[in-house]
Parts: sequence; C-alpha cells; structure tokens
Amino acid sequence: MIFVIAEHKDKKLKPITSELLAFAQRLSRDFSRPVTAVVLGAGVEALAGELKAKKIDRVIIADHPELSRYTPDSYVGILKSIIEQEKPFVVLVGHTTQGMDFAPRLAVSMRHPLIAGCVEYEKRGDRLILTRQVFNAKMNMKTAVRGEPPYFATASPGAFPADEVESGGNAEVVKIAVQPVAPRRKFIELTGVQKGKADLSSAPIIVSGGRGLKQKENFSLIFELAEAIGGSVGASRPVVDAEWLPREYQVGSSGQTVSPKLYIAVGISGAIQHLVGMQTARCIVAINKDAEAPIFKVAHYGIVDDLFKVVPALTKILKDLKTA
Ligand SMILES: Cc1cc2nc3c(=O)[nH]c(=O)nc-3n(C[C@H](O)[C@H](O)[C@H](O)COP(=O)(O)OP(=O)(O)OC[C@H]3O[C@@H](n4cnc5c(N)ncnc54)[C@H](O)[C@@H]3O)c2cc1C
Repeated sequence: MIFVIAEHKDKKLKPITSELLAFAQRLSRDFSRPVTAVVLGAGVEALAGELKAKKIDRVIIADHPELSRYTPDSYVGILKSIIEQEKPFVVLVGHTTQGMDFAPRLAVSMRHPLIAGCVEYEKRGDRLILTRQVFNAKMNMKTAVRGEPPYFATASPGAFPADEVESGGNAEVVKIAVQPVAPRRKFIELTGVQKGKADLSSAPIIVSGGRGLKQKENFSLIFELAEAIGGSVGASRPVVDAEWLPREYQVGSSGQTVSPKLYIAVGISGAIQHLVGMQTARCIVAINKDAEAPIFKVAHYGIVDDLFKVVPALTKILKDLKTA
C-alpha cells in the first residue's frame, strides 16, 4: 500500500496533495500496490469526497475537532497508529513547511528511513531507489531504502506534476475514530503574509525582479507586469538586501522555494542560489540584456534586451488584451 498524507488549508487541498497523488499513482503502477490517501483535520469530509474521485483505492479520514489546527504531536501520534495498523510500503509527505515538520519526527518515532526532498524514483528489481537533490540542487543523490517498510519520503514541490493525477476513481472512504494526544505545543496565532503580496508558495504565476532594475522605484515595473498578468511578485536576494522589498519576497536557497506554472525572471542573472528556488517552475521566461546570463540555461523562453523597454511593452500588451 502507498500512503499519501493529504495537506490542506482553509478546507481546500493544497497543490502538493495532487503532486503526491501523481507520485503515488506512478509508484502504484510500478510496484503493483494500492494507493490510500489519509486526511487529518476537523470537518474534512468534503476533502475526502474530492480525493475519492481520484484514481486511488481508499481514503482514510481522521476527523476530530482538536485537529482543526495542525500540530506535529497530534499528526505524529495519529499517523503512527494508522501506519502501525495498515503497514504501508511507502508513506508520501510533501516537502513543505508542514511536511518537513512532522515527517522526520514520525519516521524517527517509528525507526524507519526517511528520504527527504525527493524529485524522482526508479524501480530496480523490487527495490525502490529515490532521487533527491543535494548541494543546492547541483547534484542528484540516489538512495536505496534499506530494512523493512514502511519507508517515508517527502516530495519536493513541483517535482511530480499535479496535472498528471488520474481521476475517475471511486475510492472507499473509511472514517476512523481518533483521540488526539495532548499536544506539547499550544497554538497561539497564525501570522500569514498579506494576501496577494508575497504568498509565493502556491502562486501559479510569479514575476520576479533582480538587481537589473537598478533602483527601488523601478520595481513598480514588476508590480505592474504582475498585476497585468495576474501574478505575484518575487525578488532576488540583492533586492531584499537593499531593502527595496521585505524578506518574504525573496526566492532562492535562503528565501522561498517556488514552483509556479510560469516564472518570469526580470533582470536576474540566475546565480545557483536563485535557481534552486525556482528551477522547477513549469515555464521560465527570462528577460535580460546579457545573452550569456546563466538564467538562460534554465529558461524555456528568453528575451535578450533592455528590461526597461521590454517590461512596459509586455505590460501594455497584456492590459490591451484585457480591455479588448
Ligand atoms: C549563502 C548565499 C545565499 C544566497 N541566497 C540567495 C537567494 O535565496 N536568492 C537569491 O536570489 N540570491 C541568493 N544569493 C545571492 C546570489 O549568489 C546572487 O548574488 C543573486 O542571486 C544575484 O541577484 P541578481 O540576479 O538580482 O543580481 P545580478 O547577479 O547582479 O544580476 C543582475 C542581472 O540583471 C541584468 N541586467 C542589468 N541591467 C539590465 C537591463 N537594463 N535590462 C535587462 N537586464 C539587465 C544583468 O545582465 C544581470 O544578469 C545567495 C548568496 C549566498 C552566498
């Protein structure tokens, strides 16, 4: 059995859940094992209904009012008892803030291996080999899991395309009774980023600006383009270091890791520390006056020209299209 631990927020499944399901469906075909999605939360029946329609075999719901807020203690306690009972082959978790928080605790508490940040896998005989990126994504490391299952794996956002999930299933939904453990941490407050500003983690379109914009005032070009295309704004580190924008806008190894459908890099050279934060974007467009800039090595489309000419022209075309 392959377990997918569903991630959700505000009564909606997060995009990483579909990515995990795509990963699980591939594993299911290769290893001939059924897929079970596990949802923990309060009032999550509707989510189970959504998952049920995917081509999977079962949905397990652990529904309890005390699970209305995520805590690692309750997740570890409940998942441990489900996993001990069900004995899955692999447990897939998102390599997200939440997944990185509870998956290592869970794996350690069960004394089973965890491979973190997986981007691919292969089947060698009957063995599962998981690939993860190391050294700022400069190298891929293939890891063979040893010992008895379950094996735990966290999947990097963007590595397994969500649109590859097969629907058309009618999975059995099993509701289990749970009694969450008393958490050792108390939830006080959730401080989210202001909506529409820098919540880049699930933004489908990001327009990022770099040092090529020369000065803070010019960043309005990026905001205008982002607005015209319906995207969020991101930035390279020098922009943040120079205090043109707050830290939450930064994309890269010491900022946010993003995986949008479209990433437009404007006046960004493409240093490795920036690339590791955005190179899994489905489509990358680079605008840079230097044809040799490393960003073009990862870009699917490139415009070699002065951004001060290109960006306003692009914004105008998009605005005209909207009003046409
Ligand atoms: C430990 C560590 C962690 C780091 N973490 C991060 C991180 O998380 N994120 C990050 O981004 N960086 C990070 N960096 C910094 C990184 O190494 C680069 O210095 C940084 O990404 C460069 O930012 P940039 O591309 O905006 O600037 P530059 O490298 O200066 O590039 C500016 C680009 O703009 C182009 N340009 C200039 N004028 C124009 C114009 N008129 N029209 C078109 N193009 C133009 C230039 O050709 C150039 O390619 C980190 C560095 C270290 C050491």
